[in-house]
Parts: sequence; structure tokens; C-alpha cells
Amino acid sequence: MKKLGCLLPIIVIILIIGGLIYTGVITETMLYSWADRGLSGAIGLLQSLQDELRSKTGATEEEKASLLLVNAEHPLPDGYEPAPMVRLFDQKRHFLLARDDLYLTEEVFEAANRMFKAAEDEGLNGFIMTSAYRSRDKQEEIYQESAAGLAQKPGCSEHETGLAFDVTARTSTGSFAYTEQCRWLLAHCHEYGFIQRYPEGKESITGISYEPWHYRYVGVETAKKMKRLGVTLEEYLGG
Ligand SMILES: [Zn+2]
Repeated sequence: MKKLGCLLPIIVIILIIGGLIYTGVITETMLYSWADRGLSGAIGLLQSLQDELRSKTGATEEEKASLLLVNAEHPLPDGYEPAPMVRLFDQKRHFLLARDDLYLTEEVFEAANRMFKAAEDEGLNGFIMTSAYRSRDKQEEIYQESAAGLAQKPGCSEHETGLAFDVTARTSTGSFAYTEQCRWLLAHCHEYGFIQRYPEGKESITGISYEPWHYRYVGVETAKKMKRLGVTLEEYLGG
């Protein structure tokens, strides 16, 4: 009885429509035109939703033009000149240095310093920057000295841009990935414009094995968007 109660209004509506068609009040042409309008309306709605989704998920044209993608398929152009660098040793810093000849672009240093200061304010310090800008010659040297697959070919390393650095912390486990510092960076780096460039599980996309220590500056808005989407730079830029 309950089922019939639900069906009854539907049956009544069908009977009314049937009656209207039978009496010619609703013609076949009208029915086709309504169906057609409904369909094109639905398609239009889907298209606008898709456009909106694309603007939220993908990089904007401005980001595509300004974000530098550096990997084995996208080497830096010959004669690439990075932005002017600052020597980290000479700066007032909230992090430690593994060596005195580390350089980053000024904007990236400022952002990194803000990030490490925020960690320090939360009682977490002991970050040690181990590598930053590398000249093409330096990258060549590292590439020649490294075992196959461990270092990027000259021209294919983000370190040649001055926009990326490697960091570690004193650890008893021997692996930076398991430190509190690493966990903090993973949770907060996007707030300061950084992305963990080679995440775990995305090796087939980045072409690089998991590097919990390598951070790349992309700017706060972009980093936040990428974090929300959970995408790598390759995916974000669609390349
Ligand atoms: Zn690195």
C-alpha cells in the first residue's frame, strides 16, 4: 500500500500528460522542442561547470608564463641567467647553514627565512640548509661525481635557478623524512610559497625519487592552490 501511495501521483501526472497529448493540447513538436531545450541547457550547464573547474584546478595563463618548470624534459635554456642572488652566510637568518657558500635569490631567501622563523616561533628549530643555488659548472661536477640517476643532468636541475634549496635537521633516526622538522615543513611550507617538489608516490610524474628535503619556491598563491589540489609542478602546468 505504501508503494502504491508513492506511485499514485506519478500515475496521475502521466495520465494528465497523456490526456493533454491525446487531446492535442500538447503536440509532438512541442515535446521534441522541450526535450531539445532541456538537453542543450544541461550541456551548457556542464560546459560552464567544466570551465569553472578548470580555472580552479589548473594554472592560470600568467602562472604558465611565469613559473619555471625544470626537469629532464624541460631543461633550462643555454645561457640562462638566474635572478641576482644573496649569500646566505651574510644574512640574518633563522636557520643554519651546512656551508658558507650558499646562495638564493633575494625573494626566495626572504620567504625561506620567514618560514623558518615561523617554525622557530613554534619552538621548532635546527633546520640546516645543505644546498641552494648551483652554477651550471657545479651541477656538471655533481652530475659527474654522482652515481647514475642520483643527480640531475646539467641544465635540468632546479638548483640552477636559485629558487630551490635542500634542507635537513639533526636527527637520531638518520632520515630527515621522519623528523618533526620535516613534518612541519610538509604541513606549512605552502603558506610561505614553497612546495615539496618531489613528493612520495609521484615519482612517475616528476621522474625523481622522493626527496623530502628539496623545496621549490613558487609564490604563496600558487603554493596554496597546488597544496589544495595535491599536484606536482608537472601536473599543475600540464607538462
Ligand atoms: Zn635539491
